Amino acid sequence: MCIFCKIVSGEIPNNTVLENDKFLAFHDINPTAPIHVLIIPKEHIKCFQEVSPQMMAEMTTFIQEVASTLGVDNNGYRLITNNGKDGGQEIDHLHFHMLGGGKLVWHHYEEDDPRKNI
Ligand code: AMP
Repeated sequence: MCIFCKIVSGEIPNNTVLENDKFLAFHDINPTAPIHVLIIPKEHIKCFQEVSPQMMAEMTTFIQEVASTLGVDNNGYRLITNNGKDGGQEIDHLHFHMLGGGKLVWHHYEEDDPRKNI
């Protein structure tokens, strides 16, 4: 069973933000912004490329509720899903990263990473 399925089942604890019968939002264990929350379907769906439009429609409503719950709906936030190997997906269970709580920088390509020269 994948790590996020274990979180859904309660086998691995999580810091829940919001939950309903189909979706779960919880704080990322290694935050990269003042607010860094992961939003997942409880059903095991591998990645964005495999999710149905019907599921995404329901998930969109849930994601908007998460933003309101966190209080980032007005000031804004970034929503990211890493899809597959090149997309940097490490856990093969669909998840959206919700980042906020401050002004975010934009970085998206390894070749441009200023850290590579450190
Ligand atoms: P990705 O690279 O898009 O697959 O993102 C996986 C994310 O899951 C990373 O940001 C990790 O910090 C996060 N993560 C891994 N294990 C846990 C956990 N047990 N609880 C919360 N977040 C986790």
